[in-house]
Amino acid sequence: MAKPLSILFCASEIFPFAKTGGLADVAYGLPLALRDLGHDIRVMLPKYGPISERRNRIHEINRLKDLPIPVGELTEPATVKSSSIVNPRTKVQAYMTTNHRYFDSKWGVYSDPETGQDYEDNDERFIFFSRTVIETCMLLGWFPDVVHCNDWHTGLIPVYMREMFPEQFADTKIVFTIHNIANQGDFDLDATFPKAGFDEGVRERVSHNGRFNFLKAGLSYADHITTVSPSYAREILENGELTDGLNEVLAARKDVFSPVLNGIDTTVWNPEKDKSIARKYTADSIDKKEANKEKVLESFGLNFKADRPVIAMISRLVPHKGLSLIQDAAGKLLEHDLQLLVLGEGDQDIQEFLESLQKDHPDKVGVKIGFDDNLAHLIEAGADMFLMPSLFEPCGLNQMYSFAYGTVPVVRATGGLKDTVREEDGEAGPGNGFVFDDYTAEAMLAAVARALEAYGDKSRWNTIVAQGMSEDHSWNKAAGEYEDIYRGLFEA
Ligand code: ADP
Repeated sequence: MAKPLSILFCASEIFPFAKTGGLADVAYGLPLALRDLGHDIRVMLPKYGPISERRNRIHEINRLKDLPIPVGELTEPATVKSSSIVNPRTKVQAYMTTNHRYFDSKWGVYSDPETGQDYEDNDERFIFFSRTVIETCMLLGWFPDVVHCNDWHTGLIPVYMREMFPEQFADTKIVFTIHNIANQGDFDLDATFPKAGFDEGVRERVSHNGRFNFLKAGLSYADHITTVSPSYAREILENGELTDGLNEVLAARKDVFSPVLNGIDTTVWNPEKDKSIARKYTADSIDKKEANKEKVLESFGLNFKADRPVIAMISRLVPHKGLSLIQDAAGKLLEHDLQLLVLGEGDQDIQEFLESLQKDHPDKVGVKIGFDDNLAHLIEAGADMFLMPSLFEPCGLNQMYSFAYGTVPVVRATGGLKDTVREEDGEAGPGNGFVFDDYTAEAMLAAVARALEAYGDKSRWNTIVAQGMSEDHSWNKAAGEYEDIYRGLFEA
């Protein structure tokens, strides 16, 4: 058997410490799956204000206290602490960067929860974090085989490794995963460049369209680049608008770019074991799902009626998640005998639209504004259908959570949604959901109508539900693919 690899996996959010979206779930499930394969994988993230030291058993590491970290003219102290992420089989060491100015005093991951505004010093925050990743390796004398970076927040780590500490990291390979190319970490070039502390010669490789660009930095210096679904890989290679022109940077690195479809963690998202739901169930006891439907409707203040379908959304409330289609289609959607549940937070105007929709249709619409992980689980368990009408969706996790919970996804064919959801009668295999192509209210309404028609035919519906529940979307496959990528880098 091949020797286990040592891997440092860096991300801005990792479940259960910090989560604003899918990245946190990936940064939890994938490292655990790689640990299950026997690798020495450790994760690293910043410790934001709300992360409790006591609840997460965070403690100090002697060698990693009060490290002076330069950020431009400033020197700020970092203390890197230790915790772990666990599943029933194993645990993974987590390093956490603590610092009052950049992280402890701030309650949000990227933006102020009070105002919704991005923190003005986000460039400094992630420069600081990146440098603490390097310092941690140096002080521990641990130079892993692979440093795996994720999204723009970690885009400068490869630059520090290759430009400032090339000897120390000479034997370390760098993998960079794009979870969402729309967020690039772009800042004023003249203001941010000096804060990073790079030599002038680096400027070109960390800038794009005249701006400092963290993501481009990561893409320029990584040994291998991945993204989270095959369809999204094609889309971001071709689409200059979606990528703000970074598609050309990617195209230049096409030889080292490949997709790995995300998985889901089947211990956290499993209706047989889920402590957040009203009644546990499996494919063989699917009739118990109804108790969850009653419970979730109750928690939204809605009445339950047998055989009336519940269609749900859990999403960041931003236009590209398809909320603009919901705004266009809501009237027609609610002409059907169904109930609509929405959990999310985001743009003010979308929140207001949803709240007024709820006021106008108090018997049919339930809306919760906020972030609520337990409720997200109950919704997956209680809903009949799950709507993801995204304009683009790098991978999407909720459609896979839906499969696991016997909830049928209705999705637009983009990115990972296209790669995981199949309509009945399609060529790709037995149907597990409903899919539409055009990003229009009409196309979405037609897909919902097809789903409702199927719902009316119990045996047809049960076949679709059973198909989704029988599929393996666990991390096992993806972890093996990442392992192959890591090992391949040492074979060249
Ligand atoms: P993205 O990362 O683009 O937001 P994904 O579908 O990949 O989208 O992942 C979103 C994750 O965040 C899912 O686990 C989803 O359940 C969760 N999520 C999104 N909004 C909320 C919310 N308001 N409350 C609880 N969980 C949420």
